[in-house]
Amino acid sequence: MNTLSLEIVTPNGSIYERDDVELAVLQTTAGEMGVMNGHIPTVSALKTGYVKVNFHNGNEYVAVSDGFVEVRQHQLSIIVQTAETATEIDVERAKLAKARAESHLDNDDNSDINRAKRALERANNRLRVAELK
Ligand code: ATP
Repeated sequence: MNTLSLEIVTPNGSIYERDDVELAVLQTTAGEMGVMNGHIPTVSALKTGYVKVNFHNGNEYVAVSDGFVEVRQHQLSIIVQTAETATEIDVERAKLAKARAESHLDNDDNSDINRAKRALERANNRLRVAELK
């Protein structure tokens, strides 16, 4: 089977790279998108969610927070704010981030509501993806 190379880049640099991807499943703002080698070139916005990477003898989930994907015929470039593989996620840290965001949302303390909502979304996403490992 012809494979595809995949790279995930964040402002901290390249976080993840494989050149043996058989199928990548992405969560775009318009819904789920499966990409295999030879996919029609396109660009899509990604929501905070996961990338599921399937290769010959397994699969892996990577938590991402919002960004873009560029699909080329043999290559997938994912440009996101943050990315962690399911095994890299620090669950305790995500629980603390979730509690912090919830307390900002509960207490009417002039905190930036949208910022707290986004932080809660990232924390919930990391907790979900950590379960998928
Ligand atoms: P926190 O308040 O714990 O920093 P956050 O959602 O504000 O959470 P981000 O700004 O999304 O954190 O990410 C900052 C950096 O920390 C990124 O490099 C991200 O990959 C990493 N990171 C954040 N939370 C976790 C986690 N639970 N496990 C592993 N890495 C994390």
